[in-house]
This record gives sequence, structure tokens and C-alpha cells, in this order.
Amino acid sequence: MSDNITIAISKGRIFNEALPLLAALNIRPKMDPDVTRKLILATNQRNIKLIIVRATDVPTYVEYGAADMGIAGKDVLMEYTGNGVYEPLDLQIARCKMVLAAPKESKKVNGRLRVATKYVNTTRNYFADLGRQVEIIKLYGSMELAPVLGLADQIVDLVDTGNTLKANGLVPVATIAEISSRLIVNKAAMKMKHELIKPMLRELAAVVNRS
Ligand code: AMP
Repeated sequence: MSDNITIAISKGRIFNEALPLLAALNIRPKMDPDVTRKLILATNQRNIKLIIVRATDVPTYVEYGAADMGIAGKDVLMEYTGNGVYEPLDLQIARCKMVLAAPKESKKVNGRLRVATKYVNTTRNYFADLGRQVEIIKLYGSMELAPVLGLADQIVDLVDTGNTLKANGLVPVATIAEISSRLIVNKAAMKMKHELIKPMLRELAAVVNRS
């Protein structure tokens, strides 16, 4: 059995907030992904490396075993339609909310509500649970623009401080989910490498509970 562990993670807020957790396990990347163009980062631990991937790709790398573990936002995991990964630990980092937001001066909607989002599956499930049929418009970013330009009536997006919504004349009308990043583990790796992975999970859980 290989004693190597590969951890998939995205650059930016998740990486930055995961660094102290990894450091508490004495895992320290040798390079900063904002500086290097390398996508495979060695760490001070001979057998542990980090791979830098798009946030939405983290579950894919982990499901197929290209990475043994990953750190992914709950928003990404809710939207993911793959065959499954273990999600043993809420790391309580990169916290925010997924909300439904509407223009402050709401206009009357004739016909079906049009909702713009990059979270198509989550939005569909949310409205299906409410028994409402809506038209979902897939966007890849800058969702806040859609109601301003009349592309959609409302949006589903992540909100942290609320500044982006406010700057675009939007207000939250419902919270769809509380979001934080989760540790995910490949199902086969959890069995085959459990002597390596189990202690890491235990230590990480202790660090998360302490902070
Ligand atoms: P804010 O203006 O602080 O409410 O941040 C909202 C913007 O940041 C939106 O464009 C969100 O998509 C993005 N955002 C907020 N929190 C997160 C997060 N935890 N992960 C990724 N994007 C986020």
C-alpha cells in the first residue's frame, strides 16, 4: 500500500483558512500557490502533497481517487452530482451563507420567477421542496448583475459581509444553507489508507473543536 496522501484544495480563501489547520497537523506546503505556478505542492511531510484545483473540481479529483482527500465548500458539495465521497468533518472555515436575493425595490413578477445562479441543482431542489416552479438561468459569475439588467428576477449566491448584494441594490429574502468547508475523503482511500487517514481526521477534529 502506498503511504502517500494527496490533498486537493482550491486557491484563495479556502487555502488561506486551511493553512493553520494543516500547520496544527505539522503539514506545511513548501510553496505559496499565489506565487508559484506549480499545481502540485510538496510539503514538509515527505508523503503528503497538496494539489491546487478549481473549487468545483475538488470533489471530482477525490471521487476518482486522483486525490485521497480534499477540502471543499458545502456549496460545491451540495451542487455536486457525482457518485459520492465521504464527508467526515466540518472544518468550520470559509463560512458564509447561500441566499436567495431580490432587488430592494421588488418588481411584480408576471409568470414564472426567473432565478439566476451558478448553483442550478441546489436552486432547483430548494424551489422543488417549496413546490414552486421557477425558471433557472445558469451563470458562471457576477450573479448580482442579473436582476439589475432584467436578466432574472432574483439570484441565488453566496453572501459573506453582504456588501456585494448591497452595492447592487439587492437584499436577501431567504437563507438556503449555512456554508462552510468540509474535509472529504475518497471511499477506497478511507479503507486502504485508514492507518494514515484516521489519525489525521482525529487530530483535525480536535483542532477544529479547540478553535
Ligand atoms: P460579500 O460582499 O462579503 O457578501 O461577498 C459576496 C461575494 O463573495 C459573492 O460574489 C460571493 O460569491 C463571494 N463569496 C462570499 N463568501 C464566499 C465563500 N465562502 N466562498 C466563495 N465565494 C464567496
